[in-house]
Amino acid sequence: MLEIVPFVLGPVQTNAYLIADASTGEAAVIDPAWDGAVILNEAKRRGWRIAHLWYTHAHFDHIGGAGAIADGLNPLPMVALHPADHALWRLEGGAPAFGFKIDPGPEPTIDLHDGQKLHLGGAELEVRFTPGHTPGHCIIYAPGSGVCFCGDLIFLAGVGRTDLPGGNWEQLRQSIRTRVFTLPESTRLLSGHGPETTVGREKKSNPFVGEDADPFE
Ligand SMILES: [Zn+2]
Ligand SMILES: [Zn+2]
Repeated sequence: MLEIVPFVLGPVQTNAYLIADASTGEAAVIDPAWDGAVILNEAKRRGWRIAHLWYTHAHFDHIGGAGAIADGLNPLPMVALHPADHALWRLEGGAPAFGFKIDPGPEPTIDLHDGQKLHLGGAELEVRFTPGHTPGHCIIYAPGSGVCFCGDLIFLAGVGRTDLPGGNWEQLRQSIRTRVFTLPESTRLLSGHGPETTVGREKKSNPFVGEDADPFE
């Protein structure tokens, strides 16, 4: 069973998730947003070892804590990202354009892809490729826990912006319909910003992609 520790960090209040199979102590950070030392210290306090950094996408506010986490670990964590976001990663996730500087940490060497299984101790998670907010955006579904880590794909009553470089509204809508709304309705959606929601709630009432959204928008 996964244990999930959420953090809200950084200049745009990004959700980072420290997750672990507590029986083995093997941990991953999904989107090490900012202030890596805070995440690292919490893992140490719990006796967990961060072995993986998994990125939903490469925007700077989701990877800004990676360098500080890696600085405190030996061996280094393995970093996983979809290859379509590598170009964005090399640009520090767009940080300079927003007036920030980040230490992006170790280079991603694990390529995420749709349908890929990730393992953390005894838990299995599934990668779903969901472009639209960025070209390489992915979400990570943990079926055993009924939880999906959604990055900036979908939020409580909202969706990820598509006006940044590489964004595409039609792709985003398709990604939500085919990769999120196909999950069980009770699945908890843990997004990159803001409070959690569920598949059923957003399917019904999300103003952009829910049942009552304007189909001609
Ligand atoms: Zn983003
Ligand atoms: Zn974000």
